[in-house]
Amino acid sequence: MDPYRLPRTVVPNRYDLRLEPDLTTLTFRGVETVAITVNEPVREIFFNAIELAIDEAVVVDARGREQRAAATLDETTERGRLEVPEPLAVGAGQLRLTFRGTLNDKLRGFYRSVYKDPSGVSRTMAATQFEATDARRAFPCWDEPAFKAVFAVTLVIDPALTAVSNTRIVGETREGARKVVRFADSIIMSTYLVAFVVGELESTDPIGVGPTPVRVWCVPGKRRLAAFGHEIAVASLKYFEDYYGLPYPGDKLDFLAIPDFAAGAMENLGAITFRETALLVDEAAASHAELQRVADVVAHENAHMWFGDLVTMTWWNGIWLNEAFATFMEMLAVDAWKPQWQRWVAFGVSRGAAMSVDGLHSTRSIEFPVTAPREADAMFDVLTYEKGASVLRMLEQYLGPEVFRAGVRQYLTTHRFGNADTGDLWAALGHASGQPIPAVMDGWIFAPGYPLVSASIERGELVLRQQRFTYLREPLRWWGAGATGASATTPARWQVPVQLRLSAGGRDSVERVLLSEPEVRRPLPAGCDSVVVNEGGHGFYRVRYDAELLGRVVARLPALAAIERYNLVNDAWAVTLAGLMPLTDYLDLTARFRDERDKNVWTMLIGSLAMLNRLAPPDARPGLEALVRDRVGPALTALGWDSRAGEDELTRQLRGDLIRALGTLGSDRSVQAQAAERYGAHMHGSSPVDPNVLPALIAVLAYSGDPERYADFLERFRAATTPQEEQRYLYALTALPQPELIAQTLGRTINGEIRTQDAPFVVRSLLMTVQAREQAWEFVKKQWDTMDRLYPKHGMRRMAEGVTGLITPELEADVHRFFQDRHIEFGGKVLEQYLEQLRVAVALREREAAALAAYVARRTTR
Ligand SMILES: [Zn+2]
Repeated sequence: MDPYRLPRTVVPNRYDLRLEPDLTTLTFRGVETVAITVNEPVREIFFNAIELAIDEAVVVDARGREQRAAATLDETTERGRLEVPEPLAVGAGQLRLTFRGTLNDKLRGFYRSVYKDPSGVSRTMAATQFEATDARRAFPCWDEPAFKAVFAVTLVIDPALTAVSNTRIVGETREGARKVVRFADSIIMSTYLVAFVVGELESTDPIGVGPTPVRVWCVPGKRRLAAFGHEIAVASLKYFEDYYGLPYPGDKLDFLAIPDFAAGAMENLGAITFRETALLVDEAAASHAELQRVADVVAHENAHMWFGDLVTMTWWNGIWLNEAFATFMEMLAVDAWKPQWQRWVAFGVSRGAAMSVDGLHSTRSIEFPVTAPREADAMFDVLTYEKGASVLRMLEQYLGPEVFRAGVRQYLTTHRFGNADTGDLWAALGHASGQPIPAVMDGWIFAPGYPLVSASIERGELVLRQQRFTYLREPLRWWGAGATGASATTPARWQVPVQLRLSAGGRDSVERVLLSEPEVRRPLPAGCDSVVVNEGGHGFYRVRYDAELLGRVVARLPALAAIERYNLVNDAWAVTLAGLMPLTDYLDLTARFRDERDKNVWTMLIGSLAMLNRLAPPDARPGLEALVRDRVGPALTALGWDSRAGEDELTRQLRGDLIRALGTLGSDRSVQAQAAERYGAHMHGSSPVDPNVLPALIAVLAYSGDPERYADFLERFRAATTPQEEQRYLYALTALPQPELIAQTLGRTINGEIRTQDAPFVVRSLLMTVQAREQAWEFVKKQWDTMDRLYPKHGMRRMAEGVTGLITPELEADVHRFFQDRHIEFGGKVLEQYLEQLRVAVALREREAAALAAYVARRTTR
């Protein structure tokens, strides 16, 4: 028998599920009746269950014969097995189970979340997180996405508490001292989408979208932070009903902020759960980045109500269908809601993050075989979300938005209430477009990596060539090679929809070329003086111009769209990391961007300078700081410290980003002094600071802080009144340079002071900080087992990403030793990717340290 897939001899149709959680004893009792179909006359029934005790099991078969079943649980396969004395009659039957479990503190299954109420008293609530395979921790079930069923939930709770589940409440009665809350039947759906939340909760008034009431829920005292999330929830629901051409599939829609939440949010049908930072925000006090995060996550989860909930992947290898689509739709909805945010330009940063991982030999294809549930967990990464969304955007632009939408509508209509695979989506899009979609798309979905498109002019012709882009020439040599299998060499050829902009005599023309061969040549129009490859910036490939073309493109920099300038810098930095461009040439290029005013382009520039800061030898660092001041300073001088009337939100956010870069990476004393002065005035109420700038001031003051500052920030972290304020001060605690303060922050990641939902990210941040990284690494090695015990299961994987910041040959060797000696694995190719990213960075250091030192020395002595 397949150890990971349940047999289909007996399958569920409907669960009547009654759960009684006790927030005092932190346990729950459950009774469920599952309507089943017996397909073969078996004596055994298999389902999923773990960390549950089954007290009683009765099976009734199609002949009405009732048999008591012996129940056994196998913790390794996470399965329950019922055995009855006589074979079951084929046909409709029923399974009745009584069981018990614990409200755990690992933020998965049915778990507890502890928070302080406005008077500082500790309170407990219970919530669920089931994706990918943790519904089995809350109730015995067929916990695979293809076993769709109807769920009728009843929660038996303390009358003082509130219960929320996927559907509307249809009855509320008393049973002794308990309140019995009955919820309506759900649509037919997968187990991982079931949810229940029990606690002291308050909600906004509902806003109706057609027949659907939409509400935001939170713990008491935080309702004032719900308005912004509520607004995008309503706006995106309207947008999606229109785009998909199908009504919202549930009977109500609740958005719930949970104080302890491992992921960002979870798309449970009708009861979407969030970590507080992703839903609750004070619009007037938040930065653009903080607001955009809320808008993104709310729209993303909402998009899942169709893509994921109504139509679900058949198995976890198709998780990209869910996540890539939700990410793509999130962009469309937020872009429609606030066009001034230029969401698709900002998406360049996400696309860039996916290209960083996908340029590794240890990358994987978007759709990737999954057998064990552990492997499904490793699929929730930038390749599934961001690369997936990027290639969908590329396809949408190639087919045209109307045609693309028609295909999506057809896909959803055909497969609603069912399961579907990638091939089904291609079929629908192919039908709508009349194009051979698999031929174009399969290389992007089923093969790892992406092309580097080289552009050159040869004998008056434009020559485009494609080859796979990788940072390293050879796959990384590491001890685990073979465990995951050496990355197969795939033919380095894609069907690349290339958009070109040709400029001749001041006139621009756009042309589309499907680059399907290793090389194509096309004549250039007479007088053509510039060619931009990847016009509009939607393509998931990198461009490398020959020297002549690059010169022409750079000469016309202001004529490029922001996303094109972003891609120009991003691609130049990538080929520098790959050893295809000297670092000094890249640094020369950054000098051309002093007049840049786009926030996203600056995110790229500052990101590359931050990486150089992490890999620079200590003696080169003062020179590098001076270089940062030289590159970034003029933009801040031009913008000024104070916001101007009529200035847009993105410019205000850029001001904050520039101040942060100058005050930290640039170690700019005058910026640090100015930051201290303005922060002081803001706190005294004499001169309020723009919310886009305030987080930057906090970061700068932390960077240049002392024990007194630390004590103040720690107090403000504890007393924060919004999730965003709490995060700002929490991460500030990772930035002070004094070893004793770093030790204090590290200690707080395992003593319960920092929530386990945040602690792994705090440690990651310390590992990526030059002043703290060695100390943090020693701490991680020593406390590994403690952290592994405390943190939610994704925590260790997220934290370990911090090793990519340990950019010295000695630390790299030590990282390898540690993971090898401890036999640590994160599932999929995660660890191998971290190690390869580290190798890319250390290799740049080994190759370019001397040139970097000489370059910055020349600059500073000049
Ligand atoms: Zn999602």
